[in-house]
Formats: sequence, C-alpha cells, structure tokens
Amino acid sequence: MSGIKTDVVIVGSGPSGAAAAKRLTDAGYEAVMLERKAMPRHKPCSGILSPRGHRFLIENFGPLPEETLHKPRYCRGVTFHFPRGGELPMDFDGGPTPHMHRKFCDAWAVKRSGAVLHASTEFLSLEDDGRRVRVRASRNGEPVTYDARYVIGADGPRLAVTRSLYPEYAKSIPWFVVGQKFHAIKDCPLDEEYFHFWFDPQLGHYTWSHARDGRQIVGVGFRSGEVFDAKHARVVEHLERRHGVRLGPGEDTEIVTANFGPSLINRYVFGRGNTLITGQAAGFFNMIAEGMSCALHSGAIAGEAAVQAFRYGSDVQKLYREMIQSEVRRTSDQWNPFKILFGRPHEADFRGALARLPAGRRRLIWGDIWSFVKLYSPLNWGRQMFWQGVLRQLTGRYSPSRWL
Ligand SMILES: Cc1cc2nc3c(=O)[nH]c(=O)nc-3n(C[C@H](O)[C@H](O)[C@H](O)COP(=O)(O)OP(=O)(O)OC[C@H]3O[C@@H](n4cnc5c(N)ncnc54)[C@H](O)[C@@H]3O)c2cc1C
Repeated sequence: MSGIKTDVVIVGSGPSGAAAAKRLTDAGYEAVMLERKAMPRHKPCSGILSPRGHRFLIENFGPLPEETLHKPRYCRGVTFHFPRGGELPMDFDGGPTPHMHRKFCDAWAVKRSGAVLHASTEFLSLEDDGRRVRVRASRNGEPVTYDARYVIGADGPRLAVTRSLYPEYAKSIPWFVVGQKFHAIKDCPLDEEYFHFWFDPQLGHYTWSHARDGRQIVGVGFRSGEVFDAKHARVVEHLERRHGVRLGPGEDTEIVTANFGPSLINRYVFGRGNTLITGQAAGFFNMIAEGMSCALHSGAIAGEAAVQAFRYGSDVQKLYREMIQSEVRRTSDQWNPFKILFGRPHEADFRGALARLPAGRRRLIWGDIWSFVKLYSPLNWGRQMFWQGVLRQLTGRYSPSRWL
C-alpha cells in the first residue's frame, strides 16, 4: 500500500475527533486528522455544554481560553416551556457551564490533542484489507491517499465514513432539518442565562432560543420536507405573542440536517473491521440535542480501543464494542422512559423541579409532554424505546445486537 503512512486516520475535527486523537497521542501513537474545511471552521451549534462535557474538556485539554467562549460566557441551565404548563427552569448540576464558541473551541481542542491536522482535506472512501486501511481523500481538489492501521470516523452528521462502509444506511434513517436565525434584540424577557426549549407540537420537533453575543438565536427543527422560513416565522410570532419577545429581522440563516434518533432506539453505528465510527456519526445525541459531551466521551473510547488494540494485538472492533457500552448506557438512558420516570438520567433535575409545582400544573405539564411526544409517532420510535427500556431494566444494558 502507498500513501501517507500513519497509525490512525481520524476523519473530522469536532469534539469526538479531538478526544480520539488525544487518547492516541498520549499513548505515543500518531493520529492524522482529516478536516474537509479550512481551520478554524464554523460549526452551527448553540454551544451549550453539559457539566460532564465541561469536566471532560478541563480534565483532558486544560482550562478553556477566553476565545473559546461566546457571551454570555456561561449557561446556568435549561428552561422548558409548555403550552399549558408554563415554564420550568432547571439549573445544571454543579453550577453553570461554559457557552462554547465552536469555531475556536474545536480548533483549540484539536491543537491540544496533538493530532497532525490535514485541513481542507475531504475523506472520500476507504479500503480495508484486514491489516491496514487505505483512505482516499481530496486536499484542495488534489487526490491524496493515506495508509493507516485504523480509521476513526468522527465526521458528524455527514456520515462520509459510514456511507463508505454501508452505502444504504443514510437512506434508511429519518433526517431532520435544523435551522436557526440571529436577531437583533429590541426586548427579550427570556432569561439570557438559560437555554430555552419549547415542548409545543404546533412549533416543531425541536424549538429553541437563547442569547449569543448580543443577539437572540431562534431555531427550529422538523422532519425533512417542510419550509424552514415558514416554521421559523411561526416561532418568532409565538415568542412575541406568548413571551413579549420583540426582535429585529432574522439574519445569518444556518440550516443543516441531523441524524437524530439512533440513541433513542439503541440503533448505533460503530463501524466494521479496522474502522470505528464515533460521536454524532455513530448516533450519539443527548437530551435537548446536547451532542458535545457524548461526542467527547465516545471519541475518547474509540481512541482508547485503538490504543489497546495496538498494545495487545486484539480485534479493535470487538474492543470498541465492549468499551462503548458505558457511553451507550449513559446516552440512551437519557431517552429511556423508565429512567426518566423513576431515575435521574440528566444533569439537571427535571423531576425535582416538577415536584416543587402544584399538582394541577404537574398534570398539565405531563399532558403537554404527551402531546409533544405524539408528534414523533410517525417514526415508530415509541414501541422501540419502550422495549429497549424494558430490556435495560432486565439485563442492565442495551443490546449490542441492534448496532451496525
Ligand atoms: C443547530 C445546532 C445546535 C446544536 N447545539 C448544541 C448544543 O448547544 N450543545 C451540544 O452539546 N450540542 C449541540 N449540537 C450538537 C453538536 O453540535 C454535535 O452533536 C457535535 O458537534 C458532534 O460532534 P462530532 O465530533 O461527532 O461531530 P462534528 O462536531 O459535526 O464534527 C465533524 C467534523 O467532520 C468534518 N467532516 C465531515 N465530513 C468530512 C469528510 N468527508 N472529510 C473530512 N472531514 C469531514 C466536519 O466538517 C466537522 O468538522 C447542536 C447541533 C446543531 C445542528
């Protein structure tokens, strides 16, 4: 095999790629990271980090420099808004977390990871002969090849590595459109120290707003096929009518598609042979679409699996699938109805906040949540979530037999 020779090629410079690289370089292995964009690159993201993600960053990459943060510099927690039940603010466990500026935070983490970064280099395909993996890529339009022992696909929702292993996969899952606009603020009574989320089926599958750098972000997610501008306008109108939020026209529209769903129904994708898939590409997504902390943790596990495989000559895929169980539990528990009803799977105390409300309002909120959840019924996830939850109670884990 020819091409640039290295221990591991990591595709993607997001949190999962940086965490994987850090594990490898700390153990003395070389990781070449391919990033299709020039660095530092923009990333549409609210930048709200869970306490667990915050701890991971500090413990693995060190204190966050000033430029990695937006204003307000921190987020206290999340406020849920219900059509009939009013609002429910919840603080994060352990205090506020930083409001990440993804463009600079990701570039900082990559630098601290020790990876050899090949920016403006797009992964195209791979071939695995069982001993080494040959990667085809394009750097500034020129072909370039790599020859690595392992490949880690940390390429987020584009699923480039997954598509190269499983060409039919992307067509087999539901896709969501997620879009946001930035607005000048005339008057905004929503507390700027919280991330705001609406459980309102009239607005969309995922409706949020928060302050950033003196402007207000208004975003909405929905199933592919609907028109973003119309959905967004309805949310802006709702914010004004219901909350007295008065905003200037929407600017700097950002629209992306997301593979939201695998962690709800335990349908993760972890790769094949010497290629591991991790982060959002593998399907990791926490509640309120917080994806950074599970990207960091799963990426680190992928990196660690490769380190163990190098050291002991073991099957990297088998190792990864054993080691990733902990992160699967952590992430899928967040969506597990039994854990939500009887446990404490989140890092903000939803049941505690609810318990402080009068019984009448609690009933209204559960009714609102039920109406919202029904929005997802065409996807047939409810039954799968129920049975995965039952099996988790009985066996203590989520079955690997459902993973690709
Ligand atoms: C609008 C929006 C708001 C969000 N808000 C939050 C939030 O507040 N908090 C939170 O925790 N999560 C949030 N998320 C989710 C979060 O951004 C992701 O879950 C997280 O970034 C996933 O990390 P990752 O490393 O797996 O992938 P990514 O961060 O997506 O990184 C993948 C990288 O791979 C690169 N890449 C893709 N294809 C190729 C290729 N073929 N070759 C080379 N490079 C490639 C991409 O350019 C990218 O840099 C949000 C997402 C969206 C869309």
